[in-house]
Amino acid sequence: MASRLLCEIDLEAPGKRTGFLRLPHSTHESAYGWIPIPIAVIANGRGPTILLSAGNHGDEYEGQIALGRLIREVEPGQVQGRIIALPALNFRAAQAGRRTSPVDGGNLNRSFPGVADGTPTQQIAYHMDSVILPLCDAVVDLHSGGSSLMYTPSALARRGDAAVFERQLGMLRAFGAPHSYIVQPGGLWGGTLSDACALRGIPQLGTELGGGGHATPATVGVAERGIAGVLRHLGIADLDWDGRVARPTRLLQVGGSDYFVHAPDPGVFEPLAEPGEEVKAGQPAGRLHQTEVPWREPIAVHFARDGVVLVKRWPGMTARGDCLFHLGTDLGG
Ligand code: CA
Repeated sequence: MASRLLCEIDLEAPGKRTGFLRLPHSTHESAYGWIPIPIAVIANGRGPTILLSAGNHGDEYEGQIALGRLIREVEPGQVQGRIIALPALNFRAAQAGRRTSPVDGGNLNRSFPGVADGTPTQQIAYHMDSVILPLCDAVVDLHSGGSSLMYTPSALARRGDAAVFERQLGMLRAFGAPHSYIVQPGGLWGGTLSDACALRGIPQLGTELGGGGHATPATVGVAERGIAGVLRHLGIADLDWDGRVARPTRLLQVGGSDYFVHAPDPGVFEPLAEPGEEVKAGQPAGRLHQTEVPWREPIAVHFARDGVVLVKRWPGMTARGDCLFHLGTDLGG
């Protein structure tokens, strides 16, 4: 079935164009309206096509900021190949500053490969998978921790086909986030843009640049330097956003459930470790304090293995089952 989304700009011709993917959405307020998903293309000469996306989760801002800058600043004469930029992919979620779409509750990064005539979020996934990804030689989907998580600035790739994985490792090193990590397919997630790229054999990077529902100068800087590094690595553009200096990255992997700490009970979360910190198996990870009975001993949680803290939970109020931390361990270590 054909995608219902209509792209109002030509993605094939050389030059720079901006406009919208029109996602038909009939509501009380707008019977024949469409949701406007901003899209830009910057194309020139022969070379690979890269998709740069952000706002897949609407409360993750570094990519949205950096891709706006890219669209405003980069001109076709600087490009060999094609950049397709979608800075606010799940537009209604980005507009609301929420992880999921207020229109349908959809989590775009759990919705791939999408449904042609499904909910708005499912239709975005379907259009990306069936129309945009077939144009692409590489994909960078810029995420952050969102409202509920705080990462140490990281980029990540998914293990899979060996040749694709090698190219992803090259892109991870070129992105040059302070930490990079490898995740296993499937596991806790599924339905991600990364999964869709893997099925199509397209090298793809994700990022987890910070979080807490906000951006910082440091995390936006990692995004900008990373984009410039990947564009140079692929021969698409040589921006000076990174001073043309390659930055080392520490390459880690995230394995099974022992890498994660989840809340066994509700409470007020007191973290005892910070993103970027080295921890040991058995080390206290945090305490969950009991608001209603503060004289009761807080519930202690511990790390199950040695590793580097990649992420911690951001809000204090915590429910049973919330993720408090996950770790990474050196790749091959
Ligand atoms: Ca995310």
